[in-house]
Amino acid sequence: MAKIKEVRCIRTRRNGMWTIVKIITDQPGLYGIGSASDVNHPETVIKAVETIAPMLIDRPASHIEDIWQCVHSSGYWRNGSILNTALGGIDMALWDIKGKEAGMPVYQLLGGPCRSAVPCYAHAGGSELPALEDSIRAFMEEGYQVIRCQLGGYGGGGFSEADAAPQPKDPWSVNRHVFDDESYLENIPNMFDYLRQKLGFQVKLTHDVHEHLRPQCAVQLSKLLEPYRLFFLEDVLPPEHIQWFRLIREQCTTPQAMGELFINPHEWMPLITERLIDFVRVRVSKGAGITQCRKIATMCEWHGVHTAWQEGGDNDPVNQIAACHLDMASPSFGIQEENSFSPEELDAFPGHGIIENGYLYANDQPGLGIDIDEQKAKALLNQEEANRPHIFIPDRKADGTAVRP
Ligand SMILES: [Mg+2]
Repeated sequence: MAKIKEVRCIRTRRNGMWTIVKIITDQPGLYGIGSASDVNHPETVIKAVETIAPMLIDRPASHIEDIWQCVHSSGYWRNGSILNTALGGIDMALWDIKGKEAGMPVYQLLGGPCRSAVPCYAHAGGSELPALEDSIRAFMEEGYQVIRCQLGGYGGGGFSEADAAPQPKDPWSVNRHVFDDESYLENIPNMFDYLRQKLGFQVKLTHDVHEHLRPQCAVQLSKLLEPYRLFFLEDVLPPEHIQWFRLIREQCTTPQAMGELFINPHEWMPLITERLIDFVRVRVSKGAGITQCRKIATMCEWHGVHTAWQEGGDNDPVNQIAACHLDMASPSFGIQEENSFSPEELDAFPGHGIIENGYLYANDQPGLGIDIDEQKAKALLNQEEANRPHIFIPDRKADGTAVRP
């Protein structure tokens, strides 16, 4: 039985936002990789992995559940973002090793495929409605059946030019724009009115609020969007206000997706068991890996909720393929968020997932089926850019109030 010999991190992508955990065993050539990427605090996660590593050495790599339990409580306090991410990377690497030992892809170990490929949703955007429509039509041409529609970036639809807004004498906003809840409530329903008139109701549409609204406005928006029959409305509330989902449920049928900021079972459990959301959006690495996320998927199955593991943006190809294995084996699978990478980035991850006609495919190699070419991964990294702080800067309202993402 293979024993863990070494645990280390590989930092890559141009600005160092990707962290890949590599676990090497005492068996020749047998190792696994996992995603522990955190775009804002990569060094902190790496330090956490390095702190945990000594407790893993000489343990059987096959004892995934026991290792998960021990690492999870290794700091006594648990369910934090940093430790979860470190554990997520370790956990994926151990599943990768188990699959290689068994000679099977991970989705086979999870019970076998429930579908032949994984449908994904694409990200369409435009700061003007015709540009957004063009972007959606381009993804429809590519074969996507579900498309997220954004009027610009985070909070788009709720912004006005800072100079034109009624700001105080000493404005705090460092952005060119300021956010306003009521503008959002006006512009996003208008956006869907336009899109449904132009595109009809065949294409499945979603929208991501990025938690920008006051809770009462979140209830209003959910009601206002009901006639446009969204596939789901995403992150209409921040994690601190999830109890408002009950009010939304009582008032309208707009399907709700939530969870990319979740790290603690007490966030997703009540929403799933009380059927207050329709799609759970935990990021596999932030959910502490495959071991915990497969339990979330099972809980979803029992309660009629579906999975939509978070991808996109700063995620890496290893997290994407871990999500893909869960998707393949989960009866509660709903949809997978797409993610795209440059050719050079993909080149550093042989065996990466492939998206074709809106479907994501893993290969049938044992384990996760993905590897990292450490030379190429190193070449991607620009150390100067990686050394810069990558702290999330919130949008602000006209009076300076920070809008929590
Ligand atoms: Mg989102």
